[in-house]
Amino acid sequence: MSQGGAKKLDGKETAREIREELAAGCADLLDRHGIAPGLSVVLVGDHPASQVYVRGKEKAATETGMRSAVVRMPASASEEEILLAVRRLNGDPAVHGVLVQLPLPEGVDANRVLEAIDPDKDVDGFHPVNAGRLLIGLPGFVPCTPAGIVELLKRHGIPLAGRRAVVLGRSNIVGKPLAILLLREHCTVTVCHSRTRDLAAVAAEADILVAAIGRPAMVTGEFVRPGAVVVDVGIHTITDEAECRRIFGDDADRLRAVRERGSTLAGDVHPVEAGARASWLSPVPGGVGPLTIAMLLKNTLEAARLAVARRG
Ligand code: NDP
Repeated sequence: MSQGGAKKLDGKETAREIREELAAGCADLLDRHGIAPGLSVVLVGDHPASQVYVRGKEKAATETGMRSAVVRMPASASEEEILLAVRRLNGDPAVHGVLVQLPLPEGVDANRVLEAIDPDKDVDGFHPVNAGRLLIGLPGFVPCTPAGIVELLKRHGIPLAGRRAVVLGRSNIVGKPLAILLLREHCTVTVCHSRTRDLAAVAAEADILVAAIGRPAMVTGEFVRPGAVVVDVGIHTITDEAECRRIFGDDADRLRAVRERGSTLAGDVHPVEAGARASWLSPVPGGVGPLTIAMLLKNTLEAARLAVARRG
């Protein structure tokens, strides 16, 4: 792995630990209340990456002791049909978590669909009610990727309170909720985006730098203060050998992957340059990705516990 002297923020291992804890939680719920948490995913169309993500979620849920179902709809499904499917799941007492896999086909208003999910079953944490709860510090479902990033940092013993955090990216699913979570952990938070001036200089002020910009290996050495902790959220499929060399240098495993399997995965961070300066770096793959699924399962178990508590 080409990440210089930086220690690895090991998402694979951390996710394994969390999934073990969740499996124990599921067994306990089944034992005491006869309930297995139920996760239902609405998958519209045949977007290849979505198919892969959904299969991964299903497998992880089942392995943890949850019931998992996928409601498959054709790409031609109308917004009303999708809304009807979501409402059915809202009303099904065996379903505790409802997730609509994004992106939805063109012409379907994703916001309207996400707002149709019962906030108490909204295990992706994208409903405005949960976004509002997060903002003002009330209990609710937190989006999985940012929740996973905080978990990754905490479980590696990275101190957060009082540290300077810079988040690159302000999307509703990663950058913004992460900024709020880091504030909650008492970091001093700066959020950057495409209009930020002197991006590298702002990033280089960070004790904790999180890159969620969707630009392969854009975060080069000059973005990283020596000793900073760097979290790489980006996921990119690299198919070109020259691009692979730009990112990974002469890393033989990566080059072989491109030549023999046709691709390798890279993040938003340049692992060689950033890894030479950072104290910790999350790899891609094996960093934030596995935590995202673990947090989805955590939210689903929480939703099932909530349903039990409400039932009395
Ligand atoms: P979005 O495209 O929704 O947001 C990207 C953000 O980065 C925007 O705020 C944008 O600014 C900013 N940005 C884009 N280009 C630049 C630039 N050149 N300089 C500064 N800021 C820039 O992406 P997401 O948040 O959905 O995802 C980010 C990355 O994380 C992607 O690679 C995605 O694949 C990955 N991802 C990984 C997950 C995982 O589980 N590991 C889960 C979710 C995402 P502006 O707002 O001004 O346009």
